[in-house]
Amino acid sequence: MIVLKFGGTSVGTAKSIQQVVEIITQTEQPKIVVLSAVSGTTNSLIQISNHIKKGEVDDALLCVHQLHNSYLNLTGELYKTPNYKERARAFVATKFNGIKTLIETKESNNIDNIIVAQGEILSTNLVQLFLEESNVSSSLISALDFMEIDENKEPKINLISKRITPILNQNLSQKIWITQGFICKNELGEISNLQRGGSDYTASLIGAAIGATEIQIWTDIDGMHNNDPRFVENTFSIKEISFDEAAELAYFGAKILHPQSLIPAKENNIPVLLKNTFNPSSKGTIIKNKSVKSGVTAIAAKDGITAIKIKSYRMLMAYGFLKKVFEVFEKYETPIDMITTSEVAVSLTVDNTLHLEKIVKELNPFGKIEINTNLSIVCVAGDFSQNKEGVSAAIFNSLKGISIRMISYGGSNYNVSLLIKTHDKTAALNALNIGLFAKQFELQHY
Ligand code: ADP
Ligand code: ASP
Ligand code: MG
Repeated sequence: MIVLKFGGTSVGTAKSIQQVVEIITQTEQPKIVVLSAVSGTTNSLIQISNHIKKGEVDDALLCVHQLHNSYLNLTGELYKTPNYKERARAFVATKFNGIKTLIETKESNNIDNIIVAQGEILSTNLVQLFLEESNVSSSLISALDFMEIDENKEPKINLISKRITPILNQNLSQKIWITQGFICKNELGEISNLQRGGSDYTASLIGAAIGATEIQIWTDIDGMHNNDPRFVENTFSIKEISFDEAAELAYFGAKILHPQSLIPAKENNIPVLLKNTFNPSSKGTIIKNKSVKSGVTAIAAKDGITAIKIKSYRMLMAYGFLKKVFEVFEKYETPIDMITTSEVAVSLTVDNTLHLEKIVKELNPFGKIEINTNLSIVCVAGDFSQNKEGVSAAIFNSLKGISIRMISYGGSNYNVSLLIKTHDKTAALNALNIGLFAKQFELQHY
């Protein structure tokens, strides 16, 4: 069995949904199809729940009305027959009426999560109805019946496997199973989710749970590019990349993949293929266990980084000092991304600043604390087990004009991270693109 995940733009219009159906019906191979919400829907649903939080009931209802209208347009275009157009409209109306009732009655203390889950519930039901209209046999299964996270928001992989297997066994002749990405239940049985972009994670978790032979992530670009195409011109698609390199890139900002999404696939050695829904004949990117080449593979950047410098009051870094520092971050469940030390100081970066005030208060007795915000981590990923000198020289030559606040090098063979001002990010990504990839770009294009 294989898993195919389609992102928001892939199910964003009637035409793209038709394209998705073409892709999933091209082979006879049994498959689980994971769908995101129609693009823009999750953002709108979050906006609605933000209005509710602020008590702005009229604004919330207006947003519901606008979103509902966009679905009436979509269903009007997607279905061919009046019967199916009507069934789709009725389904959409039930969902939006449900949201309105929640807003008016405030009946649940989990309104946010219930509302944001409706995007994937809508898309999967509408696509399944379209398959039915197109005489393609498929079964819709609810992710809420098998996808569960524990109190630390970690998916329960064994439970997912235990629950999904009997569901699939109920109909062994079924070739197409449709389910929601992103949404899940928490340990209390309440509706929750796998965080923004989480449908990739759903696909990988299902792949691991059923022992899939391949996980395909279908999106709006020809696979993983060597640099962030939103900020850099002349990027190109990478044919093959290792799990370790791709995981570093996803964690450090390559939006094409949810940060955790490769972990289940890597642990179960299931290849992940990134493909373009709008250009299916393009090969895309294959992510596998083995690194295919040495040197730099790609660059990504993650914004919203805060640096914390602790300058010890003692001249020598005392034994046990770092342990005490880490314990503070552990207490406030705040992960550290980068760390560098000197004789008298240690600098750390975090992207979660929810508990920053409390952290700083507890760090104060250790030394003088300095905070820097609006920073970005630039991650250069590749296989650096050989020719390390060449890579570092090329990176620093490229970044001559840019001030680097921290460097992390040697933590793994797959990543060099640099901390810079977010203001310099676009310049840094472009300079690195020229410095590290100019030759490869020429090879790809001429
Ligand atoms: P989906 O809705 O299909 O999940 P996303 O918007 O989450 O799609 O991810 C695809 C987008 O990721 C691309 O359109 C592109 O702008 C962005 N992106 C950022 N970095 C990269 C990269 N290194 N390679 C490819 N795409 C990237
Ligand atoms: N719909 C969710 C989001 O927009 C999940 C996803 O698209 O992967 O974040
Ligand atoms: Mg995504």
